[in-house]
Amino acid sequence: MPKKVLLPQPIESEAVKALENAGCEIITAADPSPETVRPMLAGSHGIVLRTGIKISQELLSHADDLEIVARTGGGLDNVDVPAATKRGVMVTSNLGVNTSSVVEHVLAFMLALSKQLPLMDREMRKGNFAIRYQNLSGDLRGKTLGVIGFGRIGSELGRCCRQTFGMNVLAYDPFLSQEAKETFKEWVRFPDMQELCSSSDVISIHVPLTDHTRNMVGERELSWMKPETVLINTSRGSLIDEDALYSVLKAKRILGAGLDVFSAEPVPADHPLLELDNILVTPHSAALTRECVIRMATEAAQCVIDLFAGRRPKNIANPQVLVLDRWKHLSQ
Ligand code: NAD
Repeated sequence: MPKKVLLPQPIESEAVKALENAGCEIITAADPSPETVRPMLAGSHGIVLRTGIKISQELLSHADDLEIVARTGGGLDNVDVPAATKRGVMVTSNLGVNTSSVVEHVLAFMLALSKQLPLMDREMRKGNFAIRYQNLSGDLRGKTLGVIGFGRIGSELGRCCRQTFGMNVLAYDPFLSQEAKETFKEWVRFPDMQELCSSSDVISIHVPLTDHTRNMVGERELSWMKPETVLINTSRGSLIDEDALYSVLKAKRILGAGLDVFSAEPVPADHPLLELDNILVTPHSAALTRECVIRMATEAAQCVIDLFAGRRPKNIANPQVLVLDRWKHLSQ
C-alpha cells in the first residue's frame, strides 16, 4: 500500500515528483480550510504543510494514521506541536532554507524605506520632479541596525549590513548562549531592549511567535524609538501590537515600517494600517521567491521520504517522539 501524503495547499512540482518517485500517493485539498482538509486526514500518513491552515489538536484527532507533519517553512506556529507529540506524530520544520531570501527581503525594505522609494515614485508620477530638492532620503552607511532575535536570519542580516553598509550592529537575544555571543563580539553589541530601541535607526524583528513573544514590541518599546527609525517585521505579525504601531505611524513618531507579516492574514484591503503612507507592505512573501519555494518544498518532501524509508529526517521539532516504539527503527 503506498503511503498517502496530504497537501492542504499545492507545492512545487519538483517536490511532488520526488514524493511520487519515492512511491507516495499525493492527495491535494481543493482549499486549505479545516472543513475541506478534515475529511481528507483519515488515511493520510504525511502532511506537507505551508501556512494556509493550522494543524490543530482537533484536526489531529481525525488523523489516526498520520506519521509526520513536514513544514515547508521555519515557523511552527501553525502546528499544535504538543498535540502532535502526544499522538507520536513527528513534526519537522525547514530551518535555514529560507534565511538568505528573508534577509534579502529585509534589505529591500531597509533600502526602499530609507531612500523613500514609494514616496519618490508616487510624487514623480504626479509630475513632482522637484521633490528631489527636499533631500528626503537617507543613507544606511554608518547608521545603527538593531536586531531583535539574533538567530539564523537576524545574525545573517547583521553580517550583511555590517559588511555592505558598515552599519553598527546591536542585538537583543536573551536566549543566545554566552559562547555564541562571544563569536560576534568583534562587531555586535548586546544591549537591553530599551537601549536597542532608542539607539537604532533600523530595527528588524527575527524571533519566533510564542506566548512569551506575542506583542513584544508594544506601546512602550515603540515609545523608545527615534523619529528617524524604520521598523521592519518579517517574522510574525503578532510580535508587534498593531494598534500601537498604527497610532505611532499615524502620528509620525517613527519614520516608517516595512511589514511582511500581520496578526491576521490575509489582510483585508480596508485594514487601518493600509491607509498609512509611511509603511511598505508585502503579503507574507519574504520567503516566497521562485528559488526559495522550490528549496522549501523539496526539503519538506525529503523529510517525509526519509521517514517513510526508515531514516531519521532532518530538523525534527519534537525529538521526544523518537523514544516511542514506532520510531525506534529509524536509522540516522
Ligand atoms: P532562529 O530560531 O534561528 O532564531 C530565532 C532567535 O530568536 C533565536 O536566536 C532565539 O534565541 C531568539 N529569541 C527567542 N525568543 C526571544 C525573545 N523573547 N527575545 C529576543 N530573542 C528571542 O529563527 P530564524 O530562522 O532566524 O527565523 C526567525 C523567524 O522568522 C521565524 O520564527 C519565523 O517566524 C520567521 N520567518 C518568516 C518568514 C517569512 O516568510 N516572512 C520566513 C522564514 C522565517
